[in-house]
Amino acid sequence: MQTCSRCNTLSGDSVVICPNCGADLQELSNTAVSLKRLRQNSRVLVIRLVIPADACPACQAVEGTYPKDKVPALPVKGCSCPHGCTCFYEPMLNEIYP
Ligand SMILES: [Zn+2]
Ligand SMILES: [Zn+2]
Repeated sequence: MQTCSRCNTLSGDSVVICPNCGADLQELSNTAVSLKRLRQNSRVLVIRLVIPADACPACQAVEGTYPKDKVPALPVKGCSCPHGCTCFYEPMLNEIYP
């Protein structure tokens, strides 16, 4: 499932436009917005894609840590998880200061 960041309407993973407010979910779903914020945060070094243990093979395949510009979009393409893609981004922060 994806959540519209504008109106909090839940949509299926294959929905591209929010049925409630017409937002482009590829840009404005909660995961897309959070990814954008992480990319703009200079303290975030790399982004880990966290996959639930019982996720489908498509999700399992993209598990890992990525440079900020190489992170796959969520929901995962071809995801067949029974409750929709529940993968999420976890920022790896630069906590060490000179
Ligand atoms: Zn919406
Ligand atoms: Zn999946």
